[in-house]
Amino acid sequence: MSTISPVISQRSRLRGAIYGLLVGDALGVPYEFSSAEDLPKQNLIEMEPPPAFDRAHAGVPPGTWSDDGAQALHLLSVLLQGDVDIEGRLAQGLQSWLARGELTPDGRVFDIGIQTQEALSRLARGVPANQSGLCEERSNGNGSLMRVLPAALVPAEGDHVLLDRARRQSLPTHGHTRSLLACSLSTLISARLLNGTGFIEALDQAQECLETMTIREERDELRVLLDGRLDPPSGSGYVVDCLWSSVAAVLRTRNFEDCVRTAIGFGNDTDTTACVAGGWAGLLYGEEAIPLRWREQLRGKQLVEPLLQRLTDCWV
Ligand SMILES: [Mg+2]
Repeated sequence: MSTISPVISQRSRLRGAIYGLLVGDALGVPYEFSSAEDLPKQNLIEMEPPPAFDRAHAGVPPGTWSDDGAQALHLLSVLLQGDVDIEGRLAQGLQSWLARGELTPDGRVFDIGIQTQEALSRLARGVPANQSGLCEERSNGNGSLMRVLPAALVPAEGDHVLLDRARRQSLPTHGHTRSLLACSLSTLISARLLNGTGFIEALDQAQECLETMTIREERDELRVLLDGRLDPPSGSGYVVDCLWSSVAAVLRTRNFEDCVRTAIGFGNDTDTTACVAGGWAGLLYGEEAIPLRWREQLRGKQLVEPLLQRLTDCWV
């Protein structure tokens, strides 16, 4: 029996994407660093964890997004002003986030990845932003994947523009080809979800597109990325695992709430897995599908609304 799903407007998908990412991030914050076995039961995953649970980031009020959300909002702001200007607006945005907590609910940075910290100190020392990201194989954390979603949300003329944005936004913190390809695949998926394509089809199309458009020198790295799908999802900070854990969270569930709870249920880098999966689930199911209690508990909405207004205006 087939069910008729409600028509989801593009506006609802765009708003759902950003709020889905922020809600996923904020929901995952208290559970970060816990292994899957140590987490509360899935139906107890809320912005405020059960009292007996030893939460991460004590002192951060429930409903607060972290570095993931803040950097994604910075990228959105950059794209709303034009291209991914990495040496100018993106570099400045990342630095003012680190220095003053810009685009965070309390003006306070309480979470930062090791590679991002190192790359931003290189940037501060004068290394150009297109070289400040670390390029070693071990430097493939999920710190640029977690912020890439807006690359797919601002109108673009074709997949090559999406790929260019995805790669360039990664460079200031994560310069290795594997990270660039993970951001690329994620962006191609997101752009198709925005058009109303279902998730399985979006993933297939994105993968096929990336295989066609990847240059010979990067094909071995593409294989590493795509083969990551065969490993069990563990929600770690490794970019390949983060991508496929997020894919698994979407594929194993049918609504926003179950999706982000499943993402958190993998344990470890819970806020980032739920942020990537939550962005996709928001695109897929729309803003109204994000539980109202979580939308209401999310802090800092006054920082988000002006950006969302400009984003939806771009598409009119
Ligand atoms: Mg975080």
